[in-house]
Amino acid sequence: MPELPEVEHAAAIARRIAVGRSITSIVLRHAAQRRSLPPRAARSLVGDTVVAVERRGKSQRFRMSSGRELVIHFRMTGDWLIPDDGPLPRTVRAIISFDDGARLALDDPRALSVLSLCEVPAEDRLGPDALDRALSAAVLARALASRRIPIKVALLDQSIIAGIGNIYASEALWRARIDPRRSANTIPIPQLRTLLAAIRTTLTHAIRWQRRYYGSSDAEPAETRFNVYDREREPCRRCGKRIRRIIQAGRSTYFCASCQE
Ligand SMILES: [Zn+2]
Repeated sequence: MPELPEVEHAAAIARRIAVGRSITSIVLRHAAQRRSLPPRAARSLVGDTVVAVERRGKSQRFRMSSGRELVIHFRMTGDWLIPDDGPLPRTVRAIISFDDGARLALDDPRALSVLSLCEVPAEDRLGPDALDRALSAAVLARALASRRIPIKVALLDQSIIAGIGNIYASEALWRARIDPRRSANTIPIPQLRTLLAAIRTTLTHAIRWQRRYYGSSDAEPAETRFNVYDREREPCRRCGKRIRRIIQAGRSTYFCASCQE
């Protein structure tokens, strides 16, 4: 029976194949797996993108960009097999195909593996980590597609991106020259790409700053540390106009109305 180390090894294989890819089909070849994952649920995963593969205990969880999880438990004899061009073994019970042509096959002689789809409650749901390389502009666009809320408020929603707080949301939007009041679902993919780069630069700088100055007495002064945060009425470092402060969802947002559009 696969134990934790075997399942972790399998999850690492699944991670390499699946993360950042969208599902193009799931074929279930055995009635046992069709019982736990009915064909309609399997079809609903087509077009959804895998943002992470996690192991919890002996189960593997494919976290999808829709906020759902495809949960796989190998039970007694399950394992992943990466198919070559030849015919699949008869013991393959499920085949998941991805948009780059890669496939993951669930090989399970006893056919006891369980695949199931979970809706994760919003409060338990963490989006991809802001520094996770699987988080692309396309994944972000999908997560924002139904959000008619200001982009600044969306960035604080941990179910969309995990790890950005109030300070770095303002800083990243300034760096990306995006107006924090813009509706999250109207930002085109090239600008989301710029925004992701800005988020990563902002967070990487912040991590470096923490390492260098945290707890030290020669801390860099706050006025050079931030570009907009806590700088109301001070000049924008790019255009010289005054930084504004507004309240969004009860939190202060700092931005330059002149060079953020
Ligand atoms: Zn400016």
